[in-house]
Amino acid sequence: SGAFLSYIMCKGMGRSFISVILGGFGEGAGPKQEAKDYGEHTEIKAPEAAEILKGAKSVIITPGYGMATAGAQFAVADLTKKLREAGVEVRFGIHPVAGRLPGHMNVLLAEAKVPYDIVLEMDEINDDFPDTDVVLVIGANDTVNPDAYEPGSPIAGMPVLHVWEAGRVIIFKRSMATGYAGVQNPLFFNENSDMLFGDAKASVEEIIKSL
Ligand code: NDP
Repeated sequence: SGAFLSYIMCKGMGRSFISVILGGFGEGAGPKQEAKDYGEHTEIKAPEAAEILKGAKSVIITPGYGMATAGAQFAVADLTKKLREAGVEVRFGIHPVAGRLPGHMNVLLAEAKVPYDIVLEMDEINDDFPDTDVVLVIGANDTVNPDAYEPGSPIAGMPVLHVWEAGRVIIFKRSMATGYAGVQNPLFFNENSDMLFGDAKASVEEIIKSL
């Protein structure tokens, strides 16, 4: 089992087994992160996010480590149920190394009783983002970082979810802090991206109230 998990992890990170074991993700490659000017980010609050969701026909939720630390899976399942009842198509996009062990997100979503048939793997859903109205990035960071396509970036070569191709992206996190790899995420500064700051569970619960 350990060997299988290690294999999935290395593939999901786009790195060799040795480099994963030795650690040091994000160090020693590319320009110094803090030296780069990424521009301005925009912020929204939960009631605005609820309005955006009301106008959406299709939504993809991409959870990450922050959903686990916030324990937001039950609130996320509740939001999913409400949106689906209102006729919105809701699906999940799961990166192979979202969280801190392969399958982390799948276990949390199963625990919260999210139906299996709307929980899709990255490769199954990655082409669907251009036809999606809204993406909710819930506590994910590295797994949705477009910098993975920049040669010389510390995370270059890591496969990622193409969330930036959707109509609108709402990112749930507490600050502009980096994720596990320690690299800034240009997604946060895109014109079609909005930051929804706060604990992911509290933010999702506030959206449900507003809905
Ligand atoms: P990341 O670790 O990249 O980012 C998680 C984000 O969650 C942080 O930026 C943090 O931002 C936010 N967060 C933390 N707590 C909360 C909270 N309570 N509410 C809202 N947001 C919160 O997560 P990903 O899942 O995208 O990526 C996983 C990373 O872990 C990858 O780099 C992967 O390679 C690595 N990894 C994965 C393994 C696996 O097998 N799954 C194993 C080992 C490493 P803020 O602090 O601003 O809130």
